[in-house]
Amino acid sequence: MTTSAAPPTPVTLGLPQPRVRETPVPTRYDHSPEQLAQLLGGQPPFRARQVWQGLYEQLSGPAELTALPKALRAELGAHEQLRSALSTAVESSGDGGDTVKWLWNLGDGEQIETVLMHYAGRSTVCISTQAGCAMGCGFCATGQGGFRRQLSVGEIVEQVVAARQRSESTGRRLSNVVFMGMGEPMANYDAMWSAVTRFHSHLGMSARHLTISTVGLVPGIKRLASEDLPVNLAVSLHAANDDLRNQMVPINRTYPLDVLIQACRDYLEAKGRRLSFEWALIDGVNDLPRDAYELSEIARSLGAHVNLIPLNPTPGYPTVGTPPNIVHAFCDRLVELGVNATIRRNRGTSINAACGQLAARISAGT
Ligand code: SAH
Ligand code: SF4
Repeated sequence: MTTSAAPPTPVTLGLPQPRVRETPVPTRYDHSPEQLAQLLGGQPPFRARQVWQGLYEQLSGPAELTALPKALRAELGAHEQLRSALSTAVESSGDGGDTVKWLWNLGDGEQIETVLMHYAGRSTVCISTQAGCAMGCGFCATGQGGFRRQLSVGEIVEQVVAARQRSESTGRRLSNVVFMGMGEPMANYDAMWSAVTRFHSHLGMSARHLTISTVGLVPGIKRLASEDLPVNLAVSLHAANDDLRNQMVPINRTYPLDVLIQACRDYLEAKGRRLSFEWALIDGVNDLPRDAYELSEIARSLGAHVNLIPLNPTPGYPTVGTPPNIVHAFCDRLVELGVNATIRRNRGTSINAACGQLAARISAGT
């Protein structure tokens, strides 16, 4: 009898890895400058630079680059690996045009969401890093649908390019990126971080205007602490004791609160960036005075800012958001306890602009 050698173990974040579907064909924002030069093969090097500048400065694909000879424009415009990653499935706007939400079709038929929000003095885009999510938080529409696949760096970057194009067309400058759309950024770390470096180096965005939100994947937080760019960290806490957090956020069973809090402390020490906690307020679940007290102990010890978000109801979760008067009382209690807390207004509720909601509604046929 022969025994075959075990296959090499992939480097993971110590978690069971979701099945990765066939990698889609790369698209225009997947390539590095070197890969782009290779793709343009026989052309002189300055052509690759022109195409790169077109993508990152003019936010245009090769077919629109008038600096290129007509024949080359046509050839590159038809190149499979220079096509756009995103085509619009649904676009909707709310809040008097200040919120725009896209549901995109990807090349293989998967769908993801991006939300652009204009505020006085800044414009922020909320982007997805995975089609679906494997983390299984019961209250989240994306989690309810399960994991589909990782997004490529090009699929992540192009969401920001689309939002920047739209902002510029209305005379505004896209200033901030938050990784708070579909998926868990730390579970697609390499593509997420490549996208961050593109935003910084090629789209000219400052690290302090980039925020990574995580459900609490501790190995990802540690890795982030070792990077050179000091981005903001947001942790979706939702519960400040392990019993409740284990139920709401299953990954807490792998990385319980004391481990998570230590990783947050180490991140703050390494980067000196602001830490924020996200807290989706759920009626009767995590909105009691005891919850405010437990949360205040953790938030104060880390100097963390708390963002309170009344739960957006989703089809797969029976409980509703905390009523407005209790939301305010919860916030006041935190402030009395010495915590810097704000209530985040739900942007685009009428257009299902909460995480994963538009995709869930479309697939449910409503
Ligand atoms: N996976 C990452 C980032 C995407 S989720 C994370 O969990 O942090 C972005 C934020 O939306 C998280 O804080 C998440 O808990 C929150 N969220 C998910 N479903 C929600 C809902 N139905 N109502 C309000 N907030 C929700
Ligand atoms: Fe995934 Fe974040 Fe939704 Fe949890 S809240 S299922 S981690 S997207």
